[in-house]
Amino acid sequence: VKKKIILCGATGSIGKSALELVRKNPEKFAIVGATAHRNFAELKKIAAEFEIKNLLDTKKIAENFPKKFGEFLKKCDAEIAINAVSGFSGLKFSLEILRQKIPLALANKESIVAAGKFLQKMAAENSVPILPVDSEHSAIFQILADENFQLKKFQKIILTCSGGPFFGKNFSEIKNAKISAALAHPNWKMGAKISIDSATLANKCLEFFEAMQLFSARKNQIEIVIHRESIVHSAVEFRDGSIFAQLSPPSMQSPIAFALNFPRRKNCHLPRLDFSKKLNLSFFPPDKKNFPLLEIADFCAEKMENFPIIFNAANEILVENFLAEKINFGKIPEILKKIIFAEKLEKINSLEKIFEIDKKIREKTRDEIAKNF
Ligand code: NDP
Ligand code: MG
Repeated sequence: VKKKIILCGATGSIGKSALELVRKNPEKFAIVGATAHRNFAELKKIAAEFEIKNLLDTKKIAENFPKKFGEFLKKCDAEIAINAVSGFSGLKFSLEILRQKIPLALANKESIVAAGKFLQKMAAENSVPILPVDSEHSAIFQILADENFQLKKFQKIILTCSGGPFFGKNFSEIKNAKISAALAHPNWKMGAKISIDSATLANKCLEFFEAMQLFSARKNQIEIVIHRESIVHSAVEFRDGSIFAQLSPPSMQSPIAFALNFPRRKNCHLPRLDFSKKLNLSFFPPDKKNFPLLEIADFCAEKMENFPIIFNAANEILVENFLAEKINFGKIPEILKKIIFAEKLEKINSLEKIFEIDKKIREKTRDEIAKNF
């Protein structure tokens, strides 16, 4: 029997990887519902190919989101939902999917960064899993989790990072980088937002907060290590010093397949490593001096609570403005630092608070950008 899947954000990069996986494995998976935002016309084409019965134009229902999206989820009657929406906008998708007791395959890392505690509580109360799709977190989950979602005790997480398109460069060389250079990731083809985040290393900062929350890790239990080849997707060190790693060629289809098949493993006809060919794996410590966001993330990770929300909101606005050619690449860390250091620690005890902080920081960041003209 085919697993019935809802795909939120079907027109994006992760959406396309999920579709490709289904195309290769039509006997295993069926997409029963899908959403798009600005590209509904494209979704209709996708629906024709995959015979998707339920489509949702999320741009049209923005005013009445939880109700309309909830109705859509019910109608789909699926076994799992993939959240491949980009940015903080993905949080309301995650919340409703869990509220409807549908297992969540989560690519939208911003959901966990901003509201990890709430999503995990909701998942536990509704007895539905959150299965990470972000490749690093999938790797860590594959090493730590048993089939009942119990996590093994560990000493340290080694969070690997490709280093992005500007690895090895000085800040002075990249501060005026062109958009096309920042978008040119060596190993992954991804959406624009996460591609810029991979160039500034904001993506790794978000993943740091994501790992802390998903795996209840303390800040000093996570080490970021540059690994250019993106083959070791992350590793975990145990008390006796033994390290377990997850390896596979860089393809987002692999973590998506793992999440969809969990707790089983199936052959989904994905690329495999070939050890009969030369395979070089390299590892370096990260360069905090030339990639200042890593220091800022350290500061946030020390505090947590409202700080990951602030980091994420300010970063989203800065990336949007960089892509619109309103600010230089080097302004991203500069303004982010200014915004973050001006904030005080606040306990996050409600979802409303999360949305309120997100909104406030977006406004502050826009004001700060305007001052730079
Ligand atoms: P893309 O920008 O390629 O795609 C985003 C998708 O979300 C599109 O389908 C888009 O619809 C939809 N969308 C955008 N804004 C909204 C909104 N406000 N409301 C509803 N839907 C919206 O992003 P990616 O696929 O690259 O990334 C998706 C998520 O997965 C991100 O959180 C990212 O961090 C994470 N991720 C991505 C990886 C990758 O390889 N790309 C790797 C690991 C994690 P439309 O096109 O119709 O406007
Ligand atoms: Mg990742």
